[in-house]
Amino acid sequence: MILVLEKTITPEQKERLNQELRKENCIIKEIIGVEETILGVVGKISRDIRYYETFPGVSKAIPISKPYKLVSRELHRDASVVMVRDVAVGGDRLVVIAGPCGVEDRTRTLDIARAVRKHGAVLFRGGAFKPRTSPYSFQGLGEEGLKILAEVREETGLGIVTEIVAPSQADLLVKYVDLLQIGARNMQNFELLKTVGRLGKPVLLKRGLANTIEEWLMAAEYILSEGNEQVILCERGIRTFETYTRNTLDLTAVPIVKKLTHLPIIIDPSHATGIREKVCPMARAGVAAGADGLIIEVHTEPEKALSDGPQSLYPDQFEQLMRDLYVIAPVVGKQVDFRYLEKAEALRKPIGKAQSPAKILYHGVPGTSGHKACAQYFGTQTPMESFTSYRNIFQQVMEDSACLGVAPVENSLTGSIHENYDLLLEYDVKIVGEIALRIVHNLIGFPDAKIEGLNKVYSHPLVFEQCREFFNQHPSWDLIAVKDTVAGVLRVKENNDPKEAAIANQEAAELFHMSILKKGIETTPRNFTRFVVIAREDFFTGPKDKTSVIYSVSDNPGALHETLKIFAEKQINIVKLESRPDPNKPWQYLFYMDLEMDLENENNLDILETLKNKTEFFKLLGNYQKGPQAIT
Ligand code: PEP
Ligand code: MN
Repeated sequence: MILVLEKTITPEQKERLNQELRKENCIIKEIIGVEETILGVVGKISRDIRYYETFPGVSKAIPISKPYKLVSRELHRDASVVMVRDVAVGGDRLVVIAGPCGVEDRTRTLDIARAVRKHGAVLFRGGAFKPRTSPYSFQGLGEEGLKILAEVREETGLGIVTEIVAPSQADLLVKYVDLLQIGARNMQNFELLKTVGRLGKPVLLKRGLANTIEEWLMAAEYILSEGNEQVILCERGIRTFETYTRNTLDLTAVPIVKKLTHLPIIIDPSHATGIREKVCPMARAGVAAGADGLIIEVHTEPEKALSDGPQSLYPDQFEQLMRDLYVIAPVVGKQVDFRYLEKAEALRKPIGKAQSPAKILYHGVPGTSGHKACAQYFGTQTPMESFTSYRNIFQQVMEDSACLGVAPVENSLTGSIHENYDLLLEYDVKIVGEIALRIVHNLIGFPDAKIEGLNKVYSHPLVFEQCREFFNQHPSWDLIAVKDTVAGVLRVKENNDPKEAAIANQEAAELFHMSILKKGIETTPRNFTRFVVIAREDFFTGPKDKTSVIYSVSDNPGALHETLKIFAEKQINIVKLESRPDPNKPWQYLFYMDLEMDLENENNLDILETLKNKTEFFKLLGNYQKGPQAIT
C-alpha cells in the first residue's frame, strides 16, 4: 500500500506510524517527491489498510493495484536513474553500450573497445560466460575474459557490462563488473535474481524469449525486493511466428514499461533482429520510441566472431549510427554526448580556491528548459543551483572558478536573447560549450479545463512569441507574463480556476500533476533553443570547432568587408552574424559572430591578430565544441 503523508506530519507522528508498520514485517520505503511524501509499504499487510488512515499525519492509504509493487510507478512516480560508474541510465543523455557478443581475445577486444569508445559508447559489453543454445558452441573465456574486460576499463574508462549465468559466479563477477547482465534465458531464474538482488551492483535485466511484460516486471521485483533498486530493463526481442528475423523486437514495450514502472529501459536491436543491416534502423526506432539507451554488438572482424557475428556491426556502421542518433535524440528530449566520460572526469576534479568540484548555475527551476539544458549537457546527477537572474549567474561565474553557468542565447523561431549577449560583452567569462534543445510548448491546465472556456494564460513572454500562431486563434485570451514557465503552472495551480492555463513543457505538467490540454502549440515543431555554457577559465580539453567573437570596426566604407575577407580567404564558415548597438556610442554597432573555426588549428593561429588589427574593439568569447544542431 501507499501512505500519502500530510505536509504537516511531525517527526514524532512519523515515528509512531513507522513503529506500527514495522510490526507488519514489510519493506517500508519513504519517497520524497516535489509535491508530497509517501511511504510505500510492500509485503503481506495483515490489517485493513484503512486502519493506517486513522494515524495523525496520514492523509490517504492507497492499495497498489499491480502485482509488482517496488518497480511500479504507482509507488514511485518519478523515473529512476541507475548509475553505472559515471553513466546515468535513465537520465537526460542517451546511454549506448557496445562491444562484442563474447570476449574472444585480448587484442581484438581492446581494438573493439577503442573503436566504440571513439564513436560515443559509454559502457562496454562482452560476455565472459556465454549461455549458448548448443553445449558445443563457444562458452566464453571465463575469468580470463573478465581480466581482459578489466583491462578495457583501465585503458578506455568504459564501465564493463557482462552476463552472470549462475549464482555461483557472483563472487568472481563482482570483482570485475560494473553492470551485471541477466540474459533472456535466465530472466526467470529466481535464485539468480535473488543473488543479484543482494550484490548491490546495477543489473541489466533482459526480457525473456517468451515472457510477458508483467512477468518481466515481476522478475525485476525479485531483485528490488532483495534491496537492490539499480535495475535497468532491456527489451531484446521476443519469439513470435515470424522467422525472418531472429526475434521480433517489441518496441511497444518502451512506452508500456515507461508507464508501468520507474525503471529505465534500453533496447538491444542486435539480438532482436539477428541481422546486421536491420540493427541500425531498429536502434534508431528504439531511440525515437523513447528508450533510455541501447546495447549493440560491434566487432572488428564479425566474419571471424565466435558468436553472433552476423548481427555485429562493423565499427564504421556503429559510427554512422551514433551520428544519426546524435541528430534524432534531441527530438525526443535526449542528447548523445560524445564527451560523456571526459565531462564526468572534468566535473569530478576539484577546482578553484575552495578546491571543490564544479557546480552548474542555471536560470529557473526544475521543469524549465534552463534546468533541462544543464541536465542534458552535464548529466542529471551533477550539482546544480538555480538562480533568478542571468546577471547573477554571470556575476557568480566571475567570482568563483568552480561555477559554470548555462544561459540561452538564441531561439530558432524568435532569434537572439539579447540580455545574455549583452552580459557576454560585459562580463569577462568564456563560452566553453553549447547545447541546443528542442522546445515543445504545451497548454497546461486542470484536467476538467476546456480550451474553449479559457480566458487567461500565463507564461514567459518569449514563449508567447514562439506560440504566436496558436494565440492568433484565441484573440480574447489575456496573456500574462511571468518570470518562467514553471511560475505560470504554479500560478494556475494556486488560483485553482479551470479558466486559466499556462504554457510549459511536459516535465512541468508531470511535476505539478497538471494536465496537458494541448500538446505542441509552438508555431513550428522545429523549435530549438541554443544555450551556451560559460566559465571563468577554459574547462574542457579536447577538440574544439567553434569560435565566438564580438568586434566593432571603424565608420569607413569597406571596414566590415575587410574583416570578413579574412574568413573568406581562410575558408572559414560564418554561422551567425548579428549586430547589436554599442552601449557607449549611439548609432554604432558591435558585431557578434560565430565561426566554424578551431583557434588551436595551426592554420588559424594568426587569425586573431590579423582580425584585431582591422577592428576597433575586439573580444574573444570562446573557442569550444559545437553542440548538436538537431534536425535543420
Ligand atoms: C547477449 O547479450 O549476448 C545475449 C546472450 O543476450 P540474450 O540473453 O538477450 O540472448
Ligand atoms: Mn550475443
